[in-house]
Amino acid sequence: MTTKKVTKKAKKSGLKTYAKRRNLKKSKEPAAKRPKKRKTSKDLIFVIQKHAASHLHYDFRIEYNRVLKSWAVPKGPSLNPAVKRLAIVTDDHPMSYAKFEGVIPAGNYGAGTVMVWDIGTYQNIKEKDGKPVSMRECFKRGIIEIFLHGTKLMGGFALIRTGREKQWLLIKMRDEYASARKNPVNTQNKSALTDRTMTQIKKDSPNG
Ligand code: MN
Repeated sequence: MTTKKVTKKAKKSGLKTYAKRRNLKKSKEPAAKRPKKRKTSKDLIFVIQKHAASHLHYDFRIEYNRVLKSWAVPKGPSLNPAVKRLAIVTDDHPMSYAKFEGVIPAGNYGAGTVMVWDIGTYQNIKEKDGKPVSMRECFKRGIIEIFLHGTKLMGGFALIRTGREKQWLLIKMRDEYASARKNPVNTQNKSALTDRTMTQIKKDSPNG
């Protein structure tokens, strides 16, 4: 990681670590910006990016407070409620990163091909004693339950914080979309945005 000065804008965005780790002149990733607060509530965004960095993993990101809270899931999501997938907290990312697809050039943080594997909206479905629990409270307690409306994934998923720093578990909740047999991570290997494979994304990129 290179240490460099972070602009005022990046500091204000709450995305200091994100900005620090990147040289956006060399890597065409989105800038550290946070959009203005919305007056009306609207569906919140989730995205899962397949990322062929030094180790292939899936970046699971959900909108919260106008940034993308992020976890790296080495094996990607499972539809089997009996399977717990390790999810390691990574830096908050700017909202505009949700549609970032391309190649981060060699020598830069996270170098490698990025695909928007799935994108859509989510709803917070966490309840306690029959009452909704706010996302803020969910993060505080380390128990998040969300319903995903994606192009590949649907249904409830839980993110549970473990006792180990930055280590969470991503688990499919039991509902009609759960399956012990289907494995979209293996069977669906094209971009939700552009219908390209990782190889095609790499080939199309000037950095590939
Ligand atoms: Mn990543």
